[in-house]
Amino acid sequence: MRFHPNIIFDFFIPRSCPSCKTRLAPNENYICKLCLNEINNVPKNLLDEEYNKSFKSEKIIDDIFSLFLFDEDSPIRNLIHELKYNRKFMYGKFLGKLIAKEITKTKPNWKFDGIFAVPLHPSKKVTRGYNQSDFIVKGISSVLNIPIYSKYLKRKRATPSQTNLNVMERKRNVANAFSVKKNIKLNEKSFIIVDDIITTGATISEAASKLKEMGAQTIYAVSAALTSFDTTFSREHLNQE
Ligand SMILES: [Zn+2]
Repeated sequence: MRFHPNIIFDFFIPRSCPSCKTRLAPNENYICKLCLNEINNVPKNLLDEEYNKSFKSEKIIDDIFSLFLFDEDSPIRNLIHELKYNRKFMYGKFLGKLIAKEITKTKPNWKFDGIFAVPLHPSKKVTRGYNQSDFIVKGISSVLNIPIYSKYLKRKRATPSQTNLNVMERKRNVANAFSVKKNIKLNEKSFIIVDDIITTGATISEAASKLKEMGAQTIYAVSAALTSFDTTFSREHLNQE
């Protein structure tokens, strides 16, 4: 058996799977193979359908990519939860790298000059201590080698949780919640904007609209996971496969 450097690290600080909590094998990183296999990628037809449903008519977001379906019971929920609430930044970078590899494969026409994270309001960032999407952005940026522009996009207004709101209420809830620093030139440039999860797209569209107002030419919306309040949608699609 080939010697794996993780054997030494695991001896001192055992690593475990964020979903099933079992010890990771030396050749496993971040999540165990069984749990990783349980996470469903977003099928291309669903991605197209989401784009048409939530983004196409507004003409703000030019294309979308989302890696995993945020199904009930899916291990992706545990991974994102650990990133968001338990300071497991490495999961963000891990997801970002996976996303970047898929973008390279499935979106060869995308050209990008920079990448933004959807910002949290400063008050929320202080409570949590960080923005989980910043780590996904770091992972993507490290693979695609694109500059991070996140500091130029601000959330000027704290918005109540979107959880119990419908599509129209969500749009109103985030209206004018973002601003872009005046001294930044976005003219003719193309950007990726990243959130951890896309549900209705209201938040990421609103943030992207400010980038377009400042002259950005093309905006791609990217997330680690895709969900919907029509919670049956993902299962319906999987059953068709
Ligand atoms: Zn596991």
